[in-house]
Amino acid sequence: MKRLITLCLALVLALSLTACGQAKPQSAEIFAMDTIMDFTVTSGDAEPLLSEAQKQIYRLENLLSRTREDSDVSRINLGGIQPVDVSQETADLLQKAVDYSALTDGAFDVTIAPVMSAWGFTKDEQRVPSQTELDALLPTVDSGQIILNGPTVTLGSGQLIDLGGIAKGYASDRMAALYQQYNAAGFVSLGGNVWVSAAKPDGSPWSVAIQDPNNSAGYLGILHLSDTFSVTSGGYQRNFTQNGKTYHHIIDPQTGYPADNGLISVTIISSQSGTLCDALSTAMFVMGEEEATDFWRSGVCTFEMVLVTDDGRVLLTPGVADHFESSEDNDYVYETIN
Ligand code: AMP
Ligand code: MG
Repeated sequence: MKRLITLCLALVLALSLTACGQAKPQSAEIFAMDTIMDFTVTSGDAEPLLSEAQKQIYRLENLLSRTREDSDVSRINLGGIQPVDVSQETADLLQKAVDYSALTDGAFDVTIAPVMSAWGFTKDEQRVPSQTELDALLPTVDSGQIILNGPTVTLGSGQLIDLGGIAKGYASDRMAALYQQYNAAGFVSLGGNVWVSAAKPDGSPWSVAIQDPNNSAGYLGILHLSDTFSVTSGGYQRNFTQNGKTYHHIIDPQTGYPADNGLISVTIISSQSGTLCDALSTAMFVMGEEEATDFWRSGVCTFEMVLVTDDGRVLLTPGVADHFESSEDNDYVYETIN
């Protein structure tokens, strides 16, 4: 069995930054929340900012990780149907997760945790669970059963939560706020969750590459963005192969199986919120092309997206099509969603 973490999930191309006497950008790279995280400061007081950024990420990991025994999430899971007091920050994020579940008609659901465990993704002991096992667990996948009362959380019977589909997006919101507090420019990339500050000193936008889901060394195209979040979810990011079949980590709450609705990568772009982008990237991946485009058209949330289908199409919403430069050396067909 093979576990694959694609290290280069999204790439921010910081080009020509040292030209014209500008200060050299300063960067830090850490491994946290089970992924590689990059922080780059191109203007501003880099040292204290980078140090504070890392401190905050580790603090969030200690609150939100499912695999840390004393995290808020672990204590909620251990408490089960007994009320558990957690930090207001964790409760607020959980409330958001519950709201996104309702908004996406259950495509995003943090109570997917028992099913994630059955697939062995939590402990890195991947396996294909039996249908009987999944049938017993699926009734517990229902965020509607979570009771939130201020900072007190109570789960429904048999439920567990996993904030892996939203925590890095939330962390990117915290990082954006920190850069703004320091009046700094630059970008962060938290394992596929990217935030870029306002335009570069020369006024041009940042270049954010979207990885080619079929080729770990290539990219689909480049997004030209400023002051925006961009989050990519894809089955290629974490998976294992058994008896010749590949199983990935984004689970369809309706079936308990890895989502198989025709999409291989989803990128959500919004200047509003990294948390929103993260929840929606997972949800749209689960929904598949038709439902995801209907959701986007419904206007219940404002966002742009890039979908990659398993038959080789790249679908872009009009608002992003103008900021997207396709890569020339691949066979994808690029289309705009109307
Ligand atoms: P992402 O990479 O943001 O798409 O999130 C994938 C992670 O979210 C997985 O590793 C799980 O921790 C969790 N997850 C998987 N399926 C779902 C789902 N349908 N809803 C919410 N979280 C999920
Ligand atoms: Mg997500």
